[in-house]
Amino acid sequence: MGIRLQVTVLLAILASGAAAFCRTAEAPVRTAPPVDLQEFNYTHSDHFDLYLQNAVPVDDKTLDLLETVHDRFFGLMKQRGFKVGKTDSFTWICFNDRRSYESYARTVDGFLADQLNSYYSAKTNCVTVLTEFQHSNSAGADDQRPQTLQISASDLSGPEAEKIASHPSLMPAMLTHELIHQLSFNAGLQRRGVEYPLWVSEGLATALEYLFEEPGANEDNPYRLQTMLRLYRQNRVVPLNFFISMTSLSGASLTDTEIYAQCWAFFDFLGTMHKDQLRSYLVKAGRRYPVAVPSTALQKEFIDAFGPLEPLEAEWDGWLGAKDRQL
Ligand SMILES: [Zn+2]
Repeated sequence: MGIRLQVTVLLAILASGAAAFCRTAEAPVRTAPPVDLQEFNYTHSDHFDLYLQNAVPVDDKTLDLLETVHDRFFGLMKQRGFKVGKTDSFTWICFNDRRSYESYARTVDGFLADQLNSYYSAKTNCVTVLTEFQHSNSAGADDQRPQTLQISASDLSGPEAEKIASHPSLMPAMLTHELIHQLSFNAGLQRRGVEYPLWVSEGLATALEYLFEEPGANEDNPYRLQTMLRLYRQNRVVPLNFFISMTSLSGASLTDTEIYAQCWAFFDFLGTMHKDQLRSYLVKAGRRYPVAVPSTALQKEFIDAFGPLEPLEAEWDGWLGAKDRQL
């Protein structure tokens, strides 16, 4: 599935849900960092405040990337009838030292970030990035990671991470992924405090993680697609009755990377085949009282929107099979 088609799918959802998601123009708000970052350098662009630990290599290319993705994201929304006024400034905190990065994550977000190089926190509304990039993903560590619903990470590890780490600027797909989380939670697509299943948050972010590239320059998300099709061929796709209510990466028999691939594919499937139901689902979830909910409630919410799981699972399986035959 090409990224352009995924953008089209997202646009279709946005268009039909525009009235429900409207936000009014507000004065721009600059978000102060959640802790004192005295030692950090500060730089900014039109829409971003960046706090940089010593020698973090943020250059104009990085700021350009953030602004480009920001403009494309809100451009899509405006194009489809959103009332987007002045937007808030978005805060990013960039570390180049893993120890202080992990300490920050633990102190501010109560989050063990030892396996991640970046994350968006809906609690603070900040993106936090470790720029001293080291390949640290390991499948065996997946189950030990406590991951709260307030954290959304990119999990661009392994081959993809190595590829993007060689980019002359910071890692563009990873940054774009986190930025899509931040924008989704500030543009009305998602609401901070509400507990979303992984397939929603990570489905959205993975669908648009190549928005930094020229339209058409990246025809699809081959990394996610290949990972998903491998799962399909190996008969390891997580069953829907469990998958639809997953809010953390623990508990599944897959690696983080594999779970993200299923989120990407499942969001694409629903956005393609059930876009009206997906729009209704997102609107309804955004109105939910912002507390943690049991998995049974998440399952009911899903079935209320999309119908019984058995026929949907058969359709999903057929959709994956068709993708597999296309390649
Ligand atoms: Zn993510």
